[in-house]
Amino acid sequence: MKRVGVIGGGQLAWMMADAARKLGVELVVQTPSEGDPAVSIAQEIVFAPVDDASATEILAKKCDVITFENEFVNLDALSVLAEQGVCFRPRLEALTPLLDKYDQRCYLRDLGLPVPRFFAVEQTENLKSKIEHLGFPVVLKSRRHGYDGQGTFIIQDLAALEEKLSYETITKTLNQSLFLLEEFVPFERELAVMAARSVDGEIVTYPVVETQQKQQVCRQVIAPAEITPNQVAQIEAIAHTLLNSLQVVGIFGIELFLTTDGKVLVNEIAPRTHNSGHFSLDACETSQFEQQLRAVCGLPLGNPSLQCAGAVMVNLLGYENSHSDYQSQRQQIAEIPQAHVHWYGKTQSRPGRKLGHVTVLLDNQNREQAMAAPTPLANAVAQTIESIWYPS
Ligand code: ADP
Repeated sequence: MKRVGVIGGGQLAWMMADAARKLGVELVVQTPSEGDPAVSIAQEIVFAPVDDASATEILAKKCDVITFENEFVNLDALSVLAEQGVCFRPRLEALTPLLDKYDQRCYLRDLGLPVPRFFAVEQTENLKSKIEHLGFPVVLKSRRHGYDGQGTFIIQDLAALEEKLSYETITKTLNQSLFLLEEFVPFERELAVMAARSVDGEIVTYPVVETQQKQQVCRQVIAPAEITPNQVAQIEAIAHTLLNSLQVVGIFGIELFLTTDGKVLVNEIAPRTHNSGHFSLDACETSQFEQQLRAVCGLPLGNPSLQCAGAVMVNLLGYENSHSDYQSQRQQIAEIPQAHVHWYGKTQSRPGRKLGHVTVLLDNQNREQAMAAPTPLANAVAQTIESIWYPS
């Protein structure tokens, strides 16, 4: 496998570049716009939206295998290509139960994995009786195309829920007016794990991390999470069950809740590389991007373990509408010892947009402190970065 097609040309595809070079793999990317991050690193580009399957047919002719950096594809249309022999990794059947958040919850529950209580909502009628066993607050989610908290709403009471549903139903297309409603989990922390599975069925998991969200958007990731060995084992078992059940070839991100009584629940599956695995670029022997390429190219998987005591990854999120490249803030952040800044080269900043990230290795001079108490140290480093990045 020498030429890998990638559906989606955002930062997740852009970050595959170094690994592709290392493995001698060429990347051919399907992405809509000239300004998309991966345009600068691709050998060849098919300019088209990710759900344009006729563009994917063209992409398929230019490569040996196709993988995903964005899952908002048209699976029905792609399955025609698969029947004609186009090789998708992960296979389309591994994506089918995941693209709709309600279907995904059902799939996980049926596998016996722990998930929050949930049901599907189509109209406001009968809501009262259905919701009684959940209690408020509840979490309402668009079943499709949600990301970075878009389409996720925490709702405090029935009136607000009914209002939200009728507003969303009126303003959105029929397809988007289908919702998943679930219990609000008063989690103690949010966790995530990346797991890869090879063509031969070998599975490797990355260290479990703690993710910290603000307004449903990830702000920072601490690796490794300070959890018990038993919780790590439970999470690794979840990853194995899921990847084996779907016969995944590739890498998946699994987002989890750790409840106040120490239970682990699965929140969401990303069938690709994920923000919670970015630390692996600088902190692990094999990054999540190299692992994805290894898996889809049929190579043996690499060592996913941390090469340092710990790491903290902080997202550099847009906070204004601007064309600035934030050179001076990036420079200041890069001067933090052991900091690695990744700037995605997006030409436009918008509030909440992921423009880049920085990973700081908690090591060397801080090694003892990092080993003894990684979380407070990681939080302090993240605070320093955010105080440089965000205007006060
Ligand atoms: P997205 O696909 O947009 O990332 P998620 O389902 O991951 O949506 O939700 C984004 C964030 O919203 C989560 O990381 C968490 O902080 C919060 N959240 C989502 N579901 C729940 C829930 N059931 N209970 C409490 N918080 C939740």
